[in-house]
Amino acid sequence: MKITPLGVGGAFTKTNYHNNYIFQLGEKLLLVDAGTTLRTSLTEAGYRYTDIDFVYISHLHFDHVGGLEEMILQRYWNFENGHHVPLKTKIIVHEKLFHSLRTLLSQSLNTNGQVVEDFCQFVILKNEGSMFIEDYTFTVFDTTNAHQEGMISSGFKLGRKDNSLVYTSDIKRLEQANLISHVDDSTVAIFQDVSFTTNGAHATLDEVLNYYPAQLHEKIYAMHYNDNITEFEEFIQQANIQLVKRGKIIEFK
Ligand SMILES: [Zn+2]
Repeated sequence: MKITPLGVGGAFTKTNYHNNYIFQLGEKLLLVDAGTTLRTSLTEAGYRYTDIDFVYISHLHFDHVGGLEEMILQRYWNFENGHHVPLKTKIIVHEKLFHSLRTLLSQSLNTNGQVVEDFCQFVILKNEGSMFIEDYTFTVFDTTNAHQEGMISSGFKLGRKDNSLVYTSDIKRLEQANLISHVDDSTVAIFQDVSFTTNGAHATLDEVLNYYPAQLHEKIYAMHYNDNITEFEEFIQQANIQLVKRGKIIEFK
């Protein structure tokens, strides 16, 4: 599993792009979230829209979905040797979010007699439901209200039998989301939303360290942080956690 962080920043980042990732799983590419900075971050990382096999959308904040429509349309208007070769975009979504996401996309795609399904294929997963991407298992779990009250959201677990990671997506209320229930002996990494300043929508470093048992701290990969991260380097070193950096590829067996 090869993970390319297209960006690691929060919603208002100016320097780190939105917290979106490419997971290479065998021959397949999974894009995790599609923020408004995707149009730049994807190219900078050396990928094209047409390279992507699946996109997973965790929730409907603009830094996670604001770039999705452009991606869908650019794939649909794909030309090869002068011929229109439309590529449908496969979107993995928690069943709770499906209706809202489809409605959002319908506003622009249900036009000229076409409907969303002419452009996209939804892969709808029930809570704790799984699918295979190559020989990796992708399982979604509900985190609704744990990021912000009233926000439908989900995280996922991804991996193989002896080797998997937990991806929290945006999260504030760690206990409410019961994240620890997704951690087991196979867990090699926890991709965790961490804010280094007091924040109503994202867990702070203290909240994260207090929530997870100390033996798990070295498996925490902090993401979705503010641009002024260098001010907190000392805390990060003391905390013995990993920091995900834009463009710095992470690989697991
Ligand atoms: Zn969010």
